[in-house]
Amino acid sequence: MFDTLSDRLENVFSGLRSKGRLTDADIDATAREIRIALLEADVALPVVKAFIASVKERSKGAEVSKALNPAQQVIKIVNEELVNILGGETRRLQFAKTPPTVILLAGLQGAGKTTLAGKLGKWLKAQGHSPMLVACDLQRPNAVTQLQVVGEQAGVEVYAPEPGNGVGDPVSVALNSIENAKHAMHDVVVVDTAGRTGIDQEMMQQAIGIRDAVQPNEILFVIDAMIGQDAINTAQAFRDGVGFTGVVLSKLDGDARGGAALSVRHVTGQPIMFASTGEKLDDFDVFHPERMASRILG
Ligand code: GDP
Repeated sequence: MFDTLSDRLENVFSGLRSKGRLTDADIDATAREIRIALLEADVALPVVKAFIASVKERSKGAEVSKALNPAQQVIKIVNEELVNILGGETRRLQFAKTPPTVILLAGLQGAGKTTLAGKLGKWLKAQGHSPMLVACDLQRPNAVTQLQVVGEQAGVEVYAPEPGNGVGDPVSVALNSIENAKHAMHDVVVVDTAGRTGIDQEMMQQAIGIRDAVQPNEILFVIDAMIGQDAINTAQAFRDGVGFTGVVLSKLDGDARGGAALSVRHVTGQPIMFASTGEKLDDFDVFHPERMASRILG
């Protein structure tokens, strides 16, 4: 996903390697090139501005280091600022003191929520939890079946409305699932919700209704990292609508320019908690800002 950005930054840094020391003019020129590289990667403008301002200020104020040459020093600062915009520390899931912990998934249709439910279920199980997946996406044809399929692949129980009982109402399904989880000793409930292809009030109200009924411990906003600049508007709409406590970046294996992934933390103020890198249930991990920054810088 970040190949072009990595190449561009590598070019910027290679231009610095021959320099014995950096003047303010060198730093300004470097900052301009980094700015272009980030904008071309579709990073949102406010994020680029904040990033460049920090890099410039820190590079100009940097102590002359004996251990690092000027290029290394700038790379170190860029690396630290990348880690910063990606959220700094890894943010872990918060579990409820009294189980079950309820995790609500929200996002547009096709973002990867149902797949994520399976991934999260498998991951939670590997961490020693006993998760249950709940089918509250009753809008999309086949969403319930799809969740049952990923649940089976993950070896995780799926709670779904009985077939033949009409489509059911997602709030009752969610509430019943929690009662069911308590009886069946499941300590984490992952609730899949309906998305639409664009932001729409009905979808948002439905997610809000489920949220208010089940009072989730975490609301994870799943975002397709391939959708570019649109991702930012979508993220803001979800932040202002149902709200969320963490972000899951999906489709990081795609070949889009990756700016959404780099912008979402700064723009929404919420941490990126997990990353999905493929369609298989194992293509998933906790998000580590420092590892992502190192990957971008090669
Ligand atoms: P939902 O509508 O939000 O529930 O999205 P789905 O879970 O149905 O995912 C939509 C499509 O994206 C499916 O074809 C998934 O296999 C695919 N998908 C989900 N996550 C990833 C990912 O991390 N990488 C790739 N390449 N595809 C993914």
